[in-house]
Amino acid sequence: MLIKDTNWQREVDVVVVGFGGAGAPAAITAHDQGAKVLIVEKQPQCSHHNNTDMSGGGFINVNDPEKAVRYIESFYKVDDDLYWTDPEVIRVWAEYVSHNREWIESLGGKVRFFHSGGEQPGPGSECIDMYFYRGWGWGLMKFLKQQVADRNIPVMYDTPAKKLLTNDNGEVLGVRVAQGDEGGGQTVDIRARRAVIMTLGGFEFDEEMKLNYLKVYPTHFYGTPANSGDGHRMVMELGADLWHMNSCSARLVGKFPDFPISFTMDLGGKNWLLRQISGKETEDVCGYIMVDRDAKRFTSENFKMHTLYYELTVYDSHRRLHPRVPSFWIFDHKRIDSGPLPILMAGPSGPVRLYTWSNDNSTEIAKGWIVKADTVAELARKLELDPDTLEQTVTSYNGYCQQGHDPEFDRKPSDLVPISNPPYYAVKMWPGGPNTQGGPKRNHRAQILNVDGDPIARLYAAGEFGSVYGMLYPSGGGNIAECIAFGRIAGEHAAREEPGR
Ligand SMILES: Cc1cc2nc3c(=O)[nH]c(=O)nc-3n(C[C@H](O)[C@H](O)[C@H](O)COP(=O)(O)OP(=O)(O)OC[C@H]3O[C@@H](n4cnc5c(N)ncnc54)[C@H](O)[C@@H]3O)c2cc1C
Repeated sequence: MLIKDTNWQREVDVVVVGFGGAGAPAAITAHDQGAKVLIVEKQPQCSHHNNTDMSGGGFINVNDPEKAVRYIESFYKVDDDLYWTDPEVIRVWAEYVSHNREWIESLGGKVRFFHSGGEQPGPGSECIDMYFYRGWGWGLMKFLKQQVADRNIPVMYDTPAKKLLTNDNGEVLGVRVAQGDEGGGQTVDIRARRAVIMTLGGFEFDEEMKLNYLKVYPTHFYGTPANSGDGHRMVMELGADLWHMNSCSARLVGKFPDFPISFTMDLGGKNWLLRQISGKETEDVCGYIMVDRDAKRFTSENFKMHTLYYELTVYDSHRRLHPRVPSFWIFDHKRIDSGPLPILMAGPSGPVRLYTWSNDNSTEIAKGWIVKADTVAELARKLELDPDTLEQTVTSYNGYCQQGHDPEFDRKPSDLVPISNPPYYAVKMWPGGPNTQGGPKRNHRAQILNVDGDPIARLYAAGEFGSVYGMLYPSGGGNIAECIAFGRIAGEHAAREEPGR
């Protein structure tokens, strides 16, 4: 928004918009380079939850930047001229991500090694090391907030940014915010002498954007409803180019009409999800399958955690529906007995406690979130699936378990556990996951680019707000890795800008 004769009510060097896993490293870095920094955050302090504190807190550290470049290029290079992400951006990503662990530990943070190897097989995959912050995403955000507090960096909570303010040349001069938005919001214009860094997350909770940009609708996310595309609209107004808008690292999630946030399900029970991510053998897993609207299996159920999403986008134009939306998770009493259906380390049922899932799943059965029946045919009727087909699907699957071989989808033998312990259960599953990746295109300095490919002066981005990841996600821990890397890059360059006039 072009602004003339403004009466600036507050003035700093760098304004960071959004207080999450990218905003905090950006603010810390800019501050440590000598800039006077202010963070503005949409949510009130008492109820502030972002994707970072709801996350698992896993992050990548690459052990060889050259190999990391080869690895990412092996699935981001479409042809000689076309890349999901520009090679220069990949190069700087690799370089900074190789220092992620060191950066956290140098500030006193505590991490633990999880496993090595990327999610996409290919050259250089072995350079990916994945770590978890101790205390998951909750612990990571607590640590980052403490770092911000220790530096006396002010945070204006309950203050959504509404507009970016520019001069005649399109140079960003500051941000218009609504202070105390929950109470109506008083407009405050904040001057940013050096730069504005945008770290407001994705568009996970904007239905219109998801309908228009993602590959399948609906897609339900399990992070904060505050990430609703505000920043995307603000930078589009300034002519920003967009990238990765159709990409998200997602799979199938549980989503129920009377609760706004979706859940990641631990399908096989007992930390099955973590074992899937690490590629470790699953022991003592509970029997389950995933079926489509025709009551048939369509996957080995040993799917890639961050890319199954794309397999759900199949569309039947004759029936005018997505046959895999929703899908149905079918299991038996063994899984109910093995504990709460969702994971408890992240998401709404994680440490943020936005929802307390009952230990024996009884509350969710009573609510109808989990459908229960004495027989498979009765379960099918309750789900409005064809009973004969579902019975046939379960019978065939149980036969494969006996043989120790799945001729249809080659599910790994240790996961071939029969569904034979009544009663039977099902949960409707939807495309969904942690976050969107799309947003403004950025360069290797984290500057936001306009549609001509030029940086919009004094405007930076980091984190999932225009993440560097295109269709395929390199590994669990990718998003937090880039929050730290590009938060630091944006903070360094923003602090070095000459103050504008
Ligand atoms: C349950 C879950 C598990 C995950 N697990 C992992 C994992 O283990 N590893 C991994 O790498 N990734 C994981 N992810 C993804 C990862 O957590 C996120 O992509 C990353 O944390 C995003 O950080 P961010 O700073 O970009 O956004 P956020 O941390 O969401 O911060 C954005 C902030 O911007 C604020 N905001 C929004 N609009 C405005 C506005 N108008 N004005 C001011 N502020 C605004 C929001 O309130 C929020 O505080 C997970 C995500 C979820 C939801």
